[in-house]
Amino acid sequence: MSRAMNFSAGPAALPLSALEQAREELLDFAGSGMSIMEQSHRGKVYEAVHFEAMDLVRKHLEVPADYEILFLQGGATMEFATLPLNLLPKGRVADYVVNGAWGEKAVAEASAAASLGVGEVHVAASADFRCPRQEELALTKGAAYVHVTSNETIHGVQYALPGGVPFPETEAPLVCDMSSDILGRRVDVRRFGVIYAGAQKNIGPSGVTVFVVRKDLVEAGRKDMPGIFQWRAHAEARSLLNTPPTFGIYLVRSTLRWLEAEGGVPAIEARNEAKAAAIYGAIADSGGFYTCPVAEGCRSIMNVVFRLPSPELEAAFVKKAEAARMIGLKGHRVLGGIRASLYNAVEPAWVSTLAGFMKDFATSNG
Ligand code: PMP
Repeated sequence: MSRAMNFSAGPAALPLSALEQAREELLDFAGSGMSIMEQSHRGKVYEAVHFEAMDLVRKHLEVPADYEILFLQGGATMEFATLPLNLLPKGRVADYVVNGAWGEKAVAEASAAASLGVGEVHVAASADFRCPRQEELALTKGAAYVHVTSNETIHGVQYALPGGVPFPETEAPLVCDMSSDILGRRVDVRRFGVIYAGAQKNIGPSGVTVFVVRKDLVEAGRKDMPGIFQWRAHAEARSLLNTPPTFGIYLVRSTLRWLEAEGGVPAIEARNEAKAAAIYGAIADSGGFYTCPVAEGCRSIMNVVFRLPSPELEAAFVKKAEAARMIGLKGHRVLGGIRASLYNAVEPAWVSTLAGFMKDFATSNG
């Protein structure tokens, strides 16, 4: 089998070792005579996997003891709605800083929750292809929280890069959608009240949402709604409130074991920076054939977006890349163009191949 070079935005490439291990133990997990999928989520065999996965998140994200880690379902999109349900009481305001399509979606879902009796959603700043700077933020005094998207997957915009725009300074707890860069670089968890992320880019398959929340915010959450929407209920049940996505959590565990073997987040961060530098370098060296619409300092190391001189050339680029087994390069349907997603499990060798392909394509079509 020749493995495809997968540059998809998510679901995305998984570490080969995690997939191979899943294949090896698919029919017989740990001598149990059954697959991990067939185990009771209340049994010891599954519980060991569940808590190892959680411990690995805590270790590699360096989550302090006064934060809970939850494994939830419903994706980041579900959290767009449950956030205000938990943290935004009537009469209060939540500030949203928008730097791309996912921030907009977060605003839309939170605003829709207003009819369920939550407070007001306020857009504190909005910017295209860059992160709004501190002085541009119209923050609300006494806000319940400030929401930010660490990495805008569609627009290719990322906060807190060297020389870039730092995460906002806020009095209110900072709530961060980290779906597309969690565990791809070092972050100080203490800067945030809540971090949440769908697993399907950097940490596993779809179906698992990793949630990191300060314990006082879990406690402060609203109690007059169904338990399934309350972080408190999930925390008390250690994410075994109802049947969790057991196979997905098992793959999160294997992916994080791989991360550990690679040297943890500092090593992966250096590897991710080098991968991104190779693609941005190919753009810069193309004499204007490739252009990146994102402001310098905000150019994501996870999702590199760029344009070619025409949509026809972009289509030809995607087609030719696919023929060479590089898949998932077509830009998001809303923006068009090209997007190379360079998540943790994307091999540096694939990225070198892509950079070489870009050079050749520009030479033959420029
Ligand atoms: N936020 C970001 C930054 C994303 O990249 C995505 C998915 N591409 C989402 C939210 C939505 O995630 P989900 O499909 O898991 O709900």
